[in-house]
Order: sequence, then C-alpha cells, then structure tokens
Amino acid sequence: MKVLVVGGAGYIGSHVAKALMLKGHEVTVYDNLSTGQEINLFKQNRFIKGDILNYPALVEAMRGQDAVVHLAAKKAVGESMENPMLYSVNNISGSLNILNAMVECGAKYIVFSSSAAVYGMPEVSTIDENVPLNPINYYGFTKLEIEKFMGWYDRLKGIKFVALRYFNAVGYDADGDIRGKEINSQNLLPIMMEVVSGKRDKLKIFGNDYPTPDGTCIRDYIHVSDLASAHVLALEKLNQGMTSQSLNLGTEKGTSVLEMLRAVEKVVGRKLPAEFAPRRAGDPAILVASAAKARSLLGWKPQYLDVEKIVQTVYNIN
Ligand code: UDP
Repeated sequence: MKVLVVGGAGYIGSHVAKALMLKGHEVTVYDNLSTGQEINLFKQNRFIKGDILNYPALVEAMRGQDAVVHLAAKKAVGESMENPMLYSVNNISGSLNILNAMVECGAKYIVFSSSAAVYGMPEVSTIDENVPLNPINYYGFTKLEIEKFMGWYDRLKGIKFVALRYFNAVGYDADGDIRGKEINSQNLLPIMMEVVSGKRDKLKIFGNDYPTPDGTCIRDYIHVSDLASAHVLALEKLNQGMTSQSLNLGTEKGTSVLEMLRAVEKVVGRKLPAEFAPRRAGDPAILVASAAKARSLLGWKPQYLDVEKIVQTVYNIN
C-alpha cells in the first residue's frame, strides 16, 4: 500500500515507518520536524517536511495515498492542562485536516495513535476497551474526540479506522536503525537514563504508598517495535475488510516503578541514586492493558515481555 506516515520522524512514527517499509509498503513521511528528527528518516522513504495545519500542503502529500498512519500530535499531559489551545489546534484541528484531506484525495484507511489516557482513572486495574472513557486531562480528551470524529467520517464518508490506544511506550529499535533519542521526555525510563548518564542526580519515585505490592505505581510498558508491528497489521487488516476498531496495545503485564529501577540497575550493572517523593497528581495506582482484542482481531503478539530486554534496547542507544 501507499502509506502517508504523518509524524513519521518522531519516536513512535519512525519505528512505524521502518516496520511498514520492511513489509514492502511504499512509505511517505510527512512531518514538520517540531519534535521529529531528520536522523530518524530512512533514505528509502520519501520525506515531505510539512505541517498538518497547512491544509494545501497536506492535500498535496495525500494525493495518490491509499492509507494514513497518523501520529502527529502534542503529547505532554501537563502542558495540555496549561495550554489547551495548543492541543485543540494541533491535535483536533490537525486531525480534522487529515480526515478532510483523505476525503478530498480518496485515501481509505487511517491508523491513529490514540492513548490509554482516554480511560482516565479507571476503577479497574486491567483495562479492556469496554471500560468507560473518562479522560482526566485535556491531552486524553483530544485523543478521545479524534476517535469520535473518525467514527463519524466512517459513517458519513466510509473512511475505515483503527485507533490504537497505547499504554506506556518504551524502548528503541533493537537493530540500532533509529538513533534520534526523544528530546526532553518526562517519562520514567528516559529519566532513569538521565540518572545513568549523570545528567540528573537521582530518580524521584513519585509515591510509595499506593495500594500495590511495593507501594509504587504499576504500569504496562510496551516496546515501541511491538507498537509499530500493530500499526502494520491494523492497516493490512483494514485493507482486507476489517471494520473500524479501537484497540488497546499493551503487554498485559504490570511493572512497578521499583521493579523498573531494579531492571535498569541490572542492565547497567550498578545501583542508581533514588528517593521517594510525594505522589504526582493524576497518577492512577495501576494501569495494565487487556490486549485480547488486538490479539484476536490483528493476530498481534508483543515480542518484548521482559522489561530487562526492553531496558537493554534503551541502554544500547544511550
Ligand atoms: N515516575 C516516577 N518518577 C519520574 C517519572 C515517572 O516515579 O521521574 C512514575 C510515575 O509516577 C508513573 C510511572 O513512573 O507511575 C510512569 O510514568 P510516565 O510519566 O513514564 O508515564 P504515565 O504512566 O504517566 O503515562
């Protein structure tokens, strides 16, 4: 298929572009390089530097494409609460531009980068797609609204979609083909790597009084190459006639902050300075995916189930 990977120079997008390319799809990356990096591009792919807010340029890039993978978005939760306008424009208006350009150019399928943030603070700790959708931050709200817009564009214009609700995306391409590290990531594993490199004095563990076995929060850490393979499968299934879907992507296995710290220490071969700090606002105690739907509909099976192996792929590029 001819696939426009919007946001394909970014952290997850570059892994998706690689996975699509390896399966023989014709990839064009469309990215404004605001957070994406040129070093993440593959020379075999076509690249267009462009913004999703530039509608004429987007339409130009969309011509002749069969499908879109859409990963261009703002994604900092805290920033979304302080500056919702930025998220309304980039995430919501930008996604509407993509859907409109698809209609204008006859592209049929879209795989969208959604998030477990659409669930908010669920009452259950294992989350399937039937859990109520109650985002507690504006970022999560934008992801949910875009899923709803895609539902309407399916009903009204026949555009088929798969929304992939990522749990905690981690890791890097194990072949070392993608070398652009995420810049200023506020996520746990990149922060731990800053402690490893000495850029940061110590890790602050946000809360040790959660109702979990060791008191620290539990998350479902899913390797980015496993996320990437799900995008390829989703596109191929849509092309074979699958109806539109929203699907969780996770390993179905929880790892606590302390367990992640131990895994990093094991990989780097030394203890890391860490201290307990107060809870961070808005952190649920446990978020673990049920990915049964993605397994059965896509035939998807994550390969990285061992956090140490995941950490190794991060350590390799640091
Ligand atoms: N966390 C932490 N210290 C940090 C960053 C994160 O203890 O410096 C914890 C955070 O409270 C959460 C987990 O690590 O329980 C994963 O956080 P992250 O921001 O990576 O992802 P989130 O689950 O919030 O999307």
